[in-house]
Amino acid sequence: MEKKSLRSLDWVSRFLDETPGDEVIGGTSRQVPGACWSRVNPTPTSNPVLRLWSNEMADELGIEAGEDRILGGKEITKGMDPYAQRYGGHQFGNWAGQLGDGRAITLGEVDTGGKILELQLKGSGSTPYSRFSDGKAVLRSSIREFLCSEAMHHLGVPTTRALSLVTTGEDVVRDMLYDGRPAPEPGAVVCRISQSFIRFGSFQIHTISEDYETLRSLVDHTVSNHFPDNLSDTDEGLIEWLKRVADGTALMIANWMRIGFVHGVMNTDNMSIHGLTIDYGPYGWVEDFNPDWTPNTTDAGSKRYRFGHQAQVGAWNFARLLESIAPLMEEPKKLYEALEFYYETFQKYNNNMWAQKLGLDKFSEGDLKLITELTSILQSVETDMTIFFRILSSIKSPDINSLRYAFYDEATIPEHEWNDWLNKWWKRVNGKPNQEKMRQANPKYVLRNWMAQLAIDAAEKEDYSVAMEIHELLKKPYEEQSDYEDKWFKKRPEWARHRVGCSMLSCSS
Ligand code: AMP
Ligand code: MG
Repeated sequence: MEKKSLRSLDWVSRFLDETPGDEVIGGTSRQVPGACWSRVNPTPTSNPVLRLWSNEMADELGIEAGEDRILGGKEITKGMDPYAQRYGGHQFGNWAGQLGDGRAITLGEVDTGGKILELQLKGSGSTPYSRFSDGKAVLRSSIREFLCSEAMHHLGVPTTRALSLVTTGEDVVRDMLYDGRPAPEPGAVVCRISQSFIRFGSFQIHTISEDYETLRSLVDHTVSNHFPDNLSDTDEGLIEWLKRVADGTALMIANWMRIGFVHGVMNTDNMSIHGLTIDYGPYGWVEDFNPDWTPNTTDAGSKRYRFGHQAQVGAWNFARLLESIAPLMEEPKKLYEALEFYYETFQKYNNNMWAQKLGLDKFSEGDLKLITELTSILQSVETDMTIFFRILSSIKSPDINSLRYAFYDEATIPEHEWNDWLNKWWKRVNGKPNQEKMRQANPKYVLRNWMAQLAIDAAEKEDYSVAMEIHELLKKPYEEQSDYEDKWFKKRPEWARHRVGCSMLSCSS
């Protein structure tokens, strides 16, 4: 099929056509009651240069390598009708009021023939929802979003995607550590893509203000376009739809747990209605297996969004979504059914996930003990999660010696305990773990925090080769790729242990 360009795509605007919006176009930060969106154009940048590009995403759109003027927000083409979405959210457990796309602007929706996808620029200037900030994004956070969303896709984790990263040629001032030392950094814009960017908080904002009419039109829009097998006009229909949202959310979080991903800011405005990983900010990857770890320094006190707490937070967030739908129900009590469904579904996906990681043919209740013992012993000394499970996926006998490379300090390995556990597991799988299945569940490569940082350090010196290499590497995270092994199948180097950007990230981006 002949390739198109961004200019010749078939642009549509379902969201703008079907939900109420702001009468005013653009303008400064303000409250916009009753609206689901505000029309606003990207702020043109002085010198947009395309730096990173996803061929896979471009293929889905059916386009050739992109135009930096459009992807950098300098030009709007025919058919686009740019807007910022309005939403609210609970941040760290507290209702935060109106949030909205403060630094993201949707260019429009594209009808690819097969499906309709929304293209959004992140970092392209202020909108009515920018509150106190500038609507821009720095290069480091844009590289992290680009690389991680593409990596997650290839890891088989539901996620929004990235098409491009463009540098703007302009500096953005940020106080990276919130310690009163603001400094200029290069600016960038990522074009990200999803079936929609509707969030739990998109619904909450209307319920809080008792605007049930707008809530109703957003629910109808969401269900009819994105969940066409569901209905939104009866209690039963709404519950069935919400169960699908529960299913998507549970599946996404079980996948995060499988690969060691910590989102870092699971506020309800960062929860996609489609169960996609969205809003890559101070996320991180567990290196030594530690359920209490969070990369987000803003959350260092209570660690609400720590690795091992994500399923629970998913339930809390889902409960906030359920509350926000309650006014549309004749019998809101029925919503408990959807919450219970979330818990059951997460359990099912989680059990399945462990069965895959351990090469069991089928999970049975008795395996819970084996799994609990494993997660406990994995924490007894510093042990690399990714390396441990990857080597376990091709082990020939139940002997901890073959797993030594996963440990930070080989002298401290609790050999006895490990061999005990390995023998129990070996017995459980009759000496024949399904290693093919294990290698599909236990990636060899993930976007370790320090890998993203190396890509950033080079890019800040105008060298994008590291980012490109990591982008390529992570297109096949389950393959051996032995040429890359020495370089990237590695535990966290010592320099990264306490380095900002590797072990410590703030929301500043
Ligand atoms: P986040 O923590 O990235 O999900 O952002 C929370 C809210 O703050 C969202 O509504 C963002 O759009 C907004 N926000 C974050 N960074 C900026 C920025 N640089 N300019 C304007 N709004 C921002
Ligand atoms: Mg967000």
